[in-house]
Amino acid sequence: MSENTEKNVEMENIVSLAKRRGFIYPGSDVYGGLSGTWDYGPLGVALKRNVMQLWWKMFVDDRDDMYGVDAAILMNKKVWEASGHTATFTDPLVECSNCHGRFRADKIDTSKCPTCGKENTFGEARQFNMMFKTHVGAIEDDTSISYLRPETAQGIFINFKNVVDTFYPDLPFGLAQQGKAFRNEISPRDFIFRSREFEQMEIEYFVEPDKWEASFNALLADTHAFLNALGLPQDKIHELEVPAEDRAHYSKRTIDIEYDFPIGKEELMGIAYRTDFDLMNIQNNAGKSMEYTIKGTNTKFVPHVIEPSFGVERAVMAVMAAAYTEDEVNGEKRIVMKFPEHLAPVKYCVSPLLKNKPELVEKAREVYQILKKKHGNVMWDDNGNIGKRYRRQDEIGTPYCVVVDFDSLEDNNVTIRDRDTTEQRRVAIADLA
Ligand code: ATP
Repeated sequence: MSENTEKNVEMENIVSLAKRRGFIYPGSDVYGGLSGTWDYGPLGVALKRNVMQLWWKMFVDDRDDMYGVDAAILMNKKVWEASGHTATFTDPLVECSNCHGRFRADKIDTSKCPTCGKENTFGEARQFNMMFKTHVGAIEDDTSISYLRPETAQGIFINFKNVVDTFYPDLPFGLAQQGKAFRNEISPRDFIFRSREFEQMEIEYFVEPDKWEASFNALLADTHAFLNALGLPQDKIHELEVPAEDRAHYSKRTIDIEYDFPIGKEELMGIAYRTDFDLMNIQNNAGKSMEYTIKGTNTKFVPHVIEPSFGVERAVMAVMAAAYTEDEVNGEKRIVMKFPEHLAPVKYCVSPLLKNKPELVEKAREVYQILKKKHGNVMWDDNGNIGKRYRRQDEIGTPYCVVVDFDSLEDNNVTIRDRDTTEQRRVAIADLA
């Protein structure tokens, strides 16, 4: 799918490093896997949480106009009927009459099967609904149908009135949510880029109808600030102004932020002006007013909304791709993950110069405890020689390695080695934390 085969190699390297070093494993691997699912290991979950916490800090905690919510994944099926998902949350599916491979018609050249290579084996595309259906309660009939949510957004909209009634925020204001979303993708692919279970970070930002443009531009600028804080290089981030014919019918403006992933230029997140489409759907279908009254006036209206929608997996994949570096230190090749310090899954690694010298181990344990108390994510590593430990920590992106040696016992100083420059300096233990 990508034009750049050199870049494809890089993707393979990232996938293999992710598995080898405990970031991300294929889902249900021991049982032969489950397509479109991935499991996060100790380092992956730390990285993912750092990305999500940074988003929450920048978009919720640091602002006065945002409110967090955490809605249930299972919702009344009327939510999806009203939003249009039951009828139209579909992708076009084609099946090869020769090998029976199934593909998304808009993602392949349908004149030739990408699996078996046979020509003209595809018939008409049929619309395939991507929602995972389930039943709530002990009776499996039409009345008990529910869906695993295919987006977090609707969980926000159905709580609009609750938050207005309990907090009465001034317009404009936003509701933010992070959480799992599920889509029965026809062909999950490209590592975590297109999965069947993934996480989203979404905001519904409610505005006065004639003031949407200023908020749209401000949220776009905030989005760029967040991507910058993720350490993504500016020249790999592109804005795609989605043309009217490709936009949802209710959207007056949509910008997809694309990123130069190793698999090519693909959508990282999107920001859309959705007018009053969602709240009006709820008002009409639930029969409850979604109007907002401007404080101290009789002015009432259904607010319009701007929706910045981020995918966590795509953000994590971009961060890993941006961090992945191969360079040479003293004539020796190394792989180093140059994560921004605030995203690195492990902040410090502490080790004694030699592991069979109890006095060194004891001192190093003291240093480890000091740092652990302060930073939490600190690793102990006394395996192999120092050079090997550095290589291991470089591969998982630990910014600093601290080594306790015989001099440390005398002068209470330790060596700190910088991941990116590999430079080492002596620092007093008292100054470490
Ligand atoms: P695509 O066109 O790539 O299928 P989309 O336009 O359907 O994506 P949206 O419905 O706008 O995606 O979802 C918002 C965000 O959620 C996307 O920008 C992406 O970051 C993320 N996302 C959507 N589908 C997936 C998926 N299958 N796996 C991982 N992340 C996803």
